[in-house]
Amino acid sequence: MKEKIHPNYGEAKVTCGCGNSFMTGSVKKELRIDVCSKCHPFFTGQQRAAKARGRIEQFNKRYGQEG
Ligand SMILES: [Zn+2]
Repeated sequence: MKEKIHPNYGEAKVTCGCGNSFMTGSVKKELRIDVCSKCHPFFTGQQRAAKARGRIEQFNKRYGQEG
C-alpha cells in the first residue's frame, strides 16, 4: 500500500504523441504531450516531430476526448 504524500499530487501516466508513455509526478492523473525524450526534435530531428503531431490527431479521434 502506498501512502499519500499530498492529496493532490501523485503519479501521472504521460502519453506522448509518438506512442511512448511513462510515469511522472503530477497533480493530474493523465497527461498528454507532443514530444518526449524519445521523439524530441533535439534527438530525432524535425521530421519525426511532425509525424508525432499526426499521431496525436489519430489518438484524439480514437478516444474522442479533448482536454
Ligand atoms: Zn515521444
